[in-house]
Amino acid sequence: MCDDLIDYFIELVQIDSESKDELKVAQKIEKDILELGGAVLFDEAHKKTGGNVGNLVAKIPGKIDKEPLLFCAHMDTVVPGKGIKPIIKDGIISSESETILGSDDKAGIAEVMIAIKNIQKKNLDYAPIELLFTISEEIGLRGAINLDYSLLDSKFGYSLDSSNIGSITTRAPALDEWKVTFKGREAHAGMDPDRGINAIKVAADALNRIPQGRIDHETTINTGKINGGGPHNIVASKAVVEGEIRSHNLDTLQETKNLVGDIFTQVAKEHKIKINNKTVMATAEFAIEKNFSNLEIDDDAEIVKLAKESAKETGLQYSIDIGGGGSDANILYDNGIVTPILGTGMNNVHSKSENIKIKDMQKTLDWIEKIIELYSKK
Ligand SMILES: [Zn+2]
Repeated sequence: MCDDLIDYFIELVQIDSESKDELKVAQKIEKDILELGGAVLFDEAHKKTGGNVGNLVAKIPGKIDKEPLLFCAHMDTVVPGKGIKPIIKDGIISSESETILGSDDKAGIAEVMIAIKNIQKKNLDYAPIELLFTISEEIGLRGAINLDYSLLDSKFGYSLDSSNIGSITTRAPALDEWKVTFKGREAHAGMDPDRGINAIKVAADALNRIPQGRIDHETTINTGKINGGGPHNIVASKAVVEGEIRSHNLDTLQETKNLVGDIFTQVAKEHKIKINNKTVMATAEFAIEKNFSNLEIDDDAEIVKLAKESAKETGLQYSIDIGGGGSDANILYDNGIVTPILGTGMNNVHSKSENIKIKDMQKTLDWIEKIIELYSKK
């Protein structure tokens, strides 16, 4: 394993690791952790996610007896992430070709790995460190959701997976997915339209009635997909609509789910016809699936204070931020492990213009080193 942060980062991004194909990068990281004197375990999460390797859990023994400090990042990248050719220009690393760069999340991996290497060189009495490098984060946090939590001893740490340098994300919304199936009544569109109930029309009316977009300062709702109908000469009997609701407030999340479900049911009932003196009406079948809980860490929590203090000591301007998306940190939090999310310096992620400044990576490296140092002293 090389000593230089940038060389190491460049090495990592050149190993393809689109979601479900993290084996090669996991093997490289495993080798490097063994060099650092750590022990590496893999779980079997890939058997549920369909990937070629499980989550990587590593234990770097400390020189002092203390609860371990966790650092977490994900090994997978979004597409197109094959054959990444990183280039450095004016102190900025980006990808030369038609791919993403993969700083999301290999910047985080490189920063913590080199931080551990540097700490070891400084001959400090450092605390035990645990590393969790997950799989399939980018396709719905599948690695963290299926992680074997018995492999981890840590109760707190940091997730290295957000953009702005110095950023400490302590809150992120919960996410529920919803799906509604509207059923109407099939009939010939030309000869018998009066005996039909058009499910697409029901869906359209219902969607017009539910809130959409930002509901309040901590809640959003989105309709993402609509599917239904068939040949144009048949009154459509079925339409399926899918969407999501996010909120930092679990009460509002629940209220919004109830509201949306009620509106769908109500609108369906309003679409009725009489056939042979019998009333036939549309139906709405509403299903909700919890995706993940919210992340809600107290700004005064020790783990947050440690990040702030370490930032100050390295001259890094920190900010306490609220995230809008979900990440592995939500799932860890759900499983009793508190990990604020630290900025790693990555920019324009999930696009071909993804880039990262060398300067920002180095500052984050200093930050992580200082966190380990101060934690070990406390
Ligand atoms: Zn990420």
